[in-house]
Amino acid sequence: MTRIVYVNGEYLPEDQAKVSVFDRGFLFADGVYEVTSVLDGKLIDFDGHAKRLTRSLNELDMRAPCDSDRLLEIHRELVTRNALVDGMIYLQITRGAPNDRDFAYPAPETEPTLVLFTQSKPGLADSPMAKTGMKVISIEDQRWGRRDIKTVQLLYPSMGKMMAKAAGCDDAWMVEDGAVTEGTSNNAYIIKDGTIITRNLGTEILHGITRAAVLRFAREAQMKVEERPFTVAEAQAADEAFITSASTFVMPVVELDGKSIGTGKPGPVAARLREIYLEESRKAAI
Ligand code: PMP
Repeated sequence: MTRIVYVNGEYLPEDQAKVSVFDRGFLFADGVYEVTSVLDGKLIDFDGHAKRLTRSLNELDMRAPCDSDRLLEIHRELVTRNALVDGMIYLQITRGAPNDRDFAYPAPETEPTLVLFTQSKPGLADSPMAKTGMKVISIEDQRWGRRDIKTVQLLYPSMGKMMAKAAGCDDAWMVEDGAVTEGTSNNAYIIKDGTIITRNLGTEILHGITRAAVLRFAREAQMKVEERPFTVAEAQAADEAFITSASTFVMPVVELDGKSIGTGKPGPVAARLREIYLEESRKAAI
């Protein structure tokens, strides 16, 4: 079955979908994106992703191509047209394709580019990694200063992923001024003496939609949460560690820079949070 993607008002087979060579997403990484998970054909936390998208657009003075209701319709249409059961929907909006390359933003009436596509991941919620845990390395955080905006400038996270692979690991945690900011495409957490510790919100990290939900569920379950920076040494001495993202949900981390965390196996708190998150998110899926 050929995948059907959405490009600027049209549903097209992927090999017929095109954007201009002058698109500012291509020339300047002048674009934002969102990733929404699909479980059993339903969208997980669409509202959270739609709200963050609006915020990203506003922070960059970028025009929205349509409202959130219309985006929801397009998401649902792609699920249907691709018979998507489990997977992700990627959405990208760029500042459009003016007639020429110019650092200055194009005229405000330039139509933004809107692209959405699906990725099928059968059994997404049953990832074997949830049982074994991930190994991560630490690397210097060399990204720009507005990581709270979800832009398509993903080269450094991509390099980080390659550094992790070269080291035989699954991901990299980025470190700035001695403290962990986040993973290449996820938020980072440690657990010490029953307290869940994760970096506080600011411009240094992406405000994860999964992070917000997991912290809410943790507090509802009477778990202690501290939102503050933590170091690599603190993480290595923690009882447990994990990451969150829309596509991995809650995923245990069992090793950092070659050192086992806790027992070196996925811990009970991360496992419980994963269970609660999946259960509650499936209930609220639309
Ligand atoms: N941090 C970064 C840098 C990310 O790329 C992502 C995933 N896009 C996250 C955190 C997790 O965010 P979310 O839970 O909204 O997927």
